[in-house]
Amino acid sequence: MKNRNSIILLYFLLLTTKTILAQDKIDQFLKNQPIIDVHIHITKGYADNEDYNKINADIDIAKIEWMGQRFDENNIVLALGGGSMKYAKLWQELDKRHRSGPRFPCNPLREQDEPCENELPNLKELDSLFKNGTFKYLGETSFHSMGIHPADERFNPYWELAEKYQIPIGFHADAGPFQRNMEETPNWNEEYGNPLLLLPVLEKYPKLKIYLMHYPGRYFNECIEVMKKYEQIYCEITAVSMFAPKEKWEPRVKKLYEEGLGDRLMFGSDYVGTIRKNIEIIYNLDWLSEEQKRDVYYNNAAKFLNLTETEITRHHKMVE
Ligand SMILES: [Zn+2]
Repeated sequence: MKNRNSIILLYFLLLTTKTILAQDKIDQFLKNQPIIDVHIHITKGYADNEDYNKINADIDIAKIEWMGQRFDENNIVLALGGGSMKYAKLWQELDKRHRSGPRFPCNPLREQDEPCENELPNLKELDSLFKNGTFKYLGETSFHSMGIHPADERFNPYWELAEKYQIPIGFHADAGPFQRNMEETPNWNEEYGNPLLLLPVLEKYPKLKIYLMHYPGRYFNECIEVMKKYEQIYCEITAVSMFAPKEKWEPRVKKLYEEGLGDRLMFGSDYVGTIRKNIEIIYNLDWLSEEQKRDVYYNNAAKFLNLTETEITRHHKMVE
């Protein structure tokens, strides 16, 4: 009996050591590695969230500060995210790592989008916010969840603005998420997450800087098709890679590289508090070279966003 217990103990000791060693390896790899997160959601603070509701008496600010701590821990030097006009303004003001903009369109029925007075922002105001650099982002698109065709004519003046200021647009290019709140999204139509529906938009505005979100998702072939047609279209890996079984999505990521498009894959987290988890997902793709992993974490997004040498140097300094 004693022997058996020692064997079990030894086994767990080995297992723990193995996990610690693996974590050490990632930490070593991430040393001095800046990371760009191209998929966060800007929202109000939730008073019942125990992660941050004690940080600051103002619950909205508490959430921003808590996010900032997660950025510090994970070497996030820049983050793209959308939300209501109110919070998109506030987040970028309080933490300069945020490149913010309006959720597109915002959904008046969805709590996450509060306050959403108008589905589409006032054009004149948006123009000046892009122009003076307050806003540097448009998205995430909610065409699928609101049941609106991506090429709906109402969006034309917004595409025009985004093209003019070269604003990155995050397009939700997947069918999910599969846990839906029917009261918030009664008109859900997953077909509207298909990036091929963007083709008429791109024909009209061929310089639009769009990136396709949730790459290894349902529309992975369509993503490849659009990316082959337009060299400025990038994609990111989130959500599907975290929730779906690896054997389902990994071959799709391999395919992206086989098609010669791996240098346009970017890092994102999407779900609050999952940055480290998403970092590990990339790190554990053992067929990627060290350089390719670093490209996903930072270099591909730096290229997509046309970051200057000064900005890139500053980002590396931030994580020294
Ligand atoms: Zn999404």
